[in-house]
Amino acid sequence: MSLSVSIVIPVFNEVENVDTLVQRVAAACGQLENEWEIVLVDDGSRDGSTEKLEMAADQYEGRVRSIILNRNYGQHAAIMCGFRHTRGEIVITLDADLQNPPEEISRLVQTIENGNDVVGTIRMNRQDSFFRRFASARINWMVKKSTGVGMSDYGCMLRAYRRPVVDAMLQCRERSTFIPVLANSFAKRAAEIEVKHFERAAGESKYSLWKLVNLQFDLLTSMTTTPLRLLSWFGVAIAAGGVGFGLLLLAGRLFLGADWAAEGVFTLFAILFIFTGAQFIGMGLLGEYLGRVYHDVRGRPRYFIDRVAGHSVLDGVEAKETARAALLERQVQV
Ligand code: UDP
Ligand code: MG
Repeated sequence: MSLSVSIVIPVFNEVENVDTLVQRVAAACGQLENEWEIVLVDDGSRDGSTEKLEMAADQYEGRVRSIILNRNYGQHAAIMCGFRHTRGEIVITLDADLQNPPEEISRLVQTIENGNDVVGTIRMNRQDSFFRRFASARINWMVKKSTGVGMSDYGCMLRAYRRPVVDAMLQCRERSTFIPVLANSFAKRAAEIEVKHFERAAGESKYSLWKLVNLQFDLLTSMTTTPLRLLSWFGVAIAAGGVGFGLLLLAGRLFLGADWAAEGVFTLFAILFIFTGAQFIGMGLLGEYLGRVYHDVRGRPRYFIDRVAGHSVLDGVEAKETARAALLERQVQV
């Protein structure tokens, strides 16, 4: 029998896209031989998407479940929440803005069934601004350097994961996660396929420059502590440079006279600024890690669920089984 499939979609203020989205995803899943469910996660929308999601859960009874979070927690937290509510053996994530065509789902399922743990996608003729493409290129390079798992496109959220990888991710307690990278650290075999990419169907990107910068920090600090070590090397290099400059100034003073050295005071200022700058960079980075440690130590939940609408065919099976298991367990204990 073919593996069951769960689709997870985070939704944040996508009222114009929801109807088409659900319809297209359901149609694409309908073509599969696999059993399937859709888990929509409402990430604190305020534009009426919430009601639409609840309606979708009604309309596609047994197939669509809508998890309504009580406020906005960010795309990756929303996806994590979605993961927790999936029952499928294959889990696929997707954006709600229809930039990733749902029609590609079958190819993702196929690639997983061919024995891969994670399937990433490469966006052909990507419909994003130059700035976004530049930022992505840098991220990809960084990830490759620090995790050693080479994938050419980390930014595309149309991805598929096998159940054990999802379960492993759910056991990670850190709050700031970047799912594609996290998944790769648990995957034995990963593949990439090319998919089409479109412009946003409606609405605007939910990522401002500020949110993108935050995401970059999440990525960097969640993957590696190398920057901390680099920091020390950077400090050593600057200190050595400072000693060199000191010697140079001394030599100038000895051979070229006091006048020269007096003017050198300004050079000293310049050097001082470099030092101060470097220190601030260092402290900022330290603070970044410290902040994350603090967050994680507090161990607050990543999100809070307001309510859940609908149920799923897969869930039904599982729920009944767990109920039976719980009953048996209780009987044994008694
Ligand atoms: N999203 C979310 N919470 C957020 C921001 C975004 O759930 O705080 C969802 C959004 O609804 C969409 C997906 O994440 O389904 C990707 O967002 P967007 O299309 O704005 O990102 P971009 O394509 O610009 O990278
Ligand atoms: Mg988008």
